Amino acid sequence: MADTKKVKHQTEKDNPFEEMIKRLDVAAKIMKLDDDVYEIMKKPNKIVYSSLPIKMDNGKTQVFEGFRVVHNTALGPSKGGIRYSLNVNESEVMALAAWMTFKCAIADIPYGGAKGGINCDPSKMSEGELERLTRSYTSAMSDVFGVDKDIPAPDMNTGAREMAWIVDEFSKIKGAYTPGVVTGKPLHLGGSRGRVEATGRGVMTATMEAMEKLGMKPEKCRAAVQGFGNVGSITAKHLAAQGIKIVAISDHTAAFYNADGIDIDKAIAYRNSNKGVIKGYKGGKLISNEELLTLNVDILCPCAMENQITEENANKIKAKLIVEGANGPTTDEADHILEKKGVTVIPDILANGGGVTVSYFEWVQNRNGYYYSEEEINKRADRWMKQAFNNVWEVSKKYKVHMRIAAYIYALSKIELGIKSRGSY
Ligand code: NAD
Repeated sequence: MADTKKVKHQTEKDNPFEEMIKRLDVAAKIMKLDDDVYEIMKKPNKIVYSSLPIKMDNGKTQVFEGFRVVHNTALGPSKGGIRYSLNVNESEVMALAAWMTFKCAIADIPYGGAKGGINCDPSKMSEGELERLTRSYTSAMSDVFGVDKDIPAPDMNTGAREMAWIVDEFSKIKGAYTPGVVTGKPLHLGGSRGRVEATGRGVMTATMEAMEKLGMKPEKCRAAVQGFGNVGSITAKHLAAQGIKIVAISDHTAAFYNADGIDIDKAIAYRNSNKGVIKGYKGGKLISNEELLTLNVDILCPCAMENQITEENANKIKAKLIVEGANGPTTDEADHILEKKGVTVIPDILANGGGVTVSYFEWVQNRNGYYYSEEEINKRADRWMKQAFNNVWEVSKKYKVHMRIAAYIYALSKIELGIKSRGSY
């Protein structure tokens, strides 16, 4: 049974929710956000916590912690991924849920924001254990999820396989086949063409838009990409296809540098044949993850996880343009340092919105029972990303603020309209 639990804030440094609040405060002041709306945005709408006892393969029961945070639903049902990680905690999930609220508003899709997570180490679990855990979580959250209520999707360490289990479990509980309850499903269960590549493709589109504004020529630029999972590898692939030389890649097991450019297709093929990691890859010199972040490159794409660019390393960063594929890779302190150095940061809530945009297309297709071609999806997604980028760029010029604060201002003005026109008790 799911129950609600009082919010526990992390007290340690770089608490992602506090990082979100710091940016919210700045944006709210500059745009003169209504005080009532500010109070609403500062707190998640709902936090559901559930203990999930799972029978492990060795016959023993292990109890996992599952969370679902709904941040805001002013503009529509809440939307957001589910991550499986040992580091999952309430503060992280609360921040990720709030970022989803902003991201959907920026992408101009009719959703609010949510996020979920289970505190587990999927690399140490069998497929059967993961399936039982996913089904148990779905059952615990079955009153939270819903096509018009809250729509999960994949995030770190979850993918189409977990989404298929959720569809099945949720459909059994509700007694009706309900593919629209999640996005990121396999194609044969109503997934959308183009979804797997959507986030990385959107990061590339945002990068190209930024480069055009900054007068950077792709064929003259070198990039480093941190993280080589879904977002990082697809971002690297699409940037390389635009003529940008990818000189460094990394994941949690290794980082590689090659001044002549890393062959991304080969690196992806190697990872796919090597249990999903790039350790042992022969196409570059082994470097540390820290070195990757501070390499002499034009573009840096952090596509792994939170708090990678901090006050400790921001001063050493040489890239002119940072495009955030990951959620929350840059701390607030680092933002100030980067701004002083003249580095342009395209923030997560804008740059990685391509994924949720195609998730929205998936949900629309599920509701209509009619499916678009990959070409049609990509064309629409590219158009939406360019529009979102230019909307935020204009706000940054209007208020003379950097792109992250501009993105918050753009999102908050739309959410403010939603909250005010719907009214409250
Ligand atoms: P993933 O699990 O497919 O990949 C994560 C990658 O990061 C892996 O290669 C992992 O090895 C690497 N990594 C983890 N810790 C690292 C470290 N300390 N240093 C270097 N690399 C490290 O996850 P993903 O879906 O690619 O998500 C990555 C980020 O993008 C997350 O912040 C996620 O919230 C965000 N995001 C994902 C999507 C999506 O559609 N998948 C959409 C929006 C945002």
